[in-house]
Amino acid sequence: MTAPPQVHNPTDLPHNNGAVPTKPRGQNLIGLTRDDLKAVLADMGVPDRAQHMRAQQLWHWIYHRGVRDFHHMTTIAKDMRQALAELYCLERPEIVRTEISQDGTRKWLIQSEPGVAFETVYIPEENRGTLCISSQVGCTLNCTFCLTGTQRLVRNLSAGEIVAQLMIARDELDDWPVIGASNERDRAITNIVMMGMGEPLYNFDNTKKALSIVSDGDGISISKRRITLSTAGVVPEIPRCGHEIGVMLAISLHAVRDEVRDELVPLNKKYPLADLLAACRAYPTANNSKRITFEYVMLKQVNDSLSDAKELVRLLKGIPAKVNLIPFNPWPGAPYQCAEWQQIEAFAQVLMKAGYASPIRTPRGRDIMAACGQLKSDSVRPRASARHIG
Ligand code: SAH
Repeated sequence: MTAPPQVHNPTDLPHNNGAVPTKPRGQNLIGLTRDDLKAVLADMGVPDRAQHMRAQQLWHWIYHRGVRDFHHMTTIAKDMRQALAELYCLERPEIVRTEISQDGTRKWLIQSEPGVAFETVYIPEENRGTLCISSQVGCTLNCTFCLTGTQRLVRNLSAGEIVAQLMIARDELDDWPVIGASNERDRAITNIVMMGMGEPLYNFDNTKKALSIVSDGDGISISKRRITLSTAGVVPEIPRCGHEIGVMLAISLHAVRDEVRDELVPLNKKYPLADLLAACRAYPTANNSKRITFEYVMLKQVNDSLSDAKELVRLLKGIPAKVNLIPFNPWPGAPYQCAEWQQIEAFAQVLMKAGYASPIRTPRGRDIMAACGQLKSDSVRPRASARHIG
């Protein structure tokens, strides 16, 4: 089997400066950076010297306060608000379905234009709340244990569509800061994982832009230490991820021998274990307080033996690492079974004895198909002939 194609911003898509696509109500500002906002203001005739401050104000209202109506931007002059409202919008993509699990996990199916639907999952825990964000509609990687892998790539999400997932979750959870509230309550969303549909490092530029917006301290303000990007192992992009994005790294490892990993994560044929681990060893920001997470899905009699656990210890030597053991989440027609619980615990024991934190991830939201590897939308990539109409 040939390695999956690299997908960087498919060129047959309309260019919209990374923002969320919108209907005729004017260009959407969600997904724009400060510089993009300055350009918008320049277009509106705002003089050079005022652009920085005006962009700062817009930034605050859009990304810190989450307002959706320019008329609520009270620090901006009324005629300016009116002009903004006539030319631009702050529309979120539409939520087409919300599901709430018995354990409180929420899954939203979000559609930004016809045929482009993706899923976002919110996982509340005792002392934190994690939002799992998608980077692509569908995926090119075809990992054999992952349901998303059965959906062909439709397209990369724009920076705006990535940021909008967080904004929608804050809208739905009523999680925008209330300025002037005497007791600033804890945020519902404290952490982000780029672990939804798609491979974020195959949508590098949009992911980078979106995470720079999300982590900006004057806006949504989720620190890079609380953002984890998970990759199946796109080795050439891993150093750039460290240098240019600077978030925590997670690697979907899942196997310790190339023969097995070739099967589970076909990308391994292109970037085998030795290359992947070398990239991790060199990861710019990794240290003992910023460990790399290795995700390892526990598949019965495929990768769950104790000799696999020992080999994992050997492979991780020298890497500031922790291991996340993920009980396999089943989906209809999946060719695997979850490893026995006792086996998972014994596997964890080997890792812990070697000094690696190795929590077993509690499956969340399985009843609504929101757990790891259970995300899929009905979107399909239109045939090439249909894509070029108009
Ligand atoms: N493409 C990226 C981002 C997706 S993250 C990556 O592969 O890392 C989704 C995580 O869930 C990955 O670690 C993936 O390997 C894991 N996963 C996929 N299917 C799963 C399943 N059925 N059960 C448990 N984990 C699964």
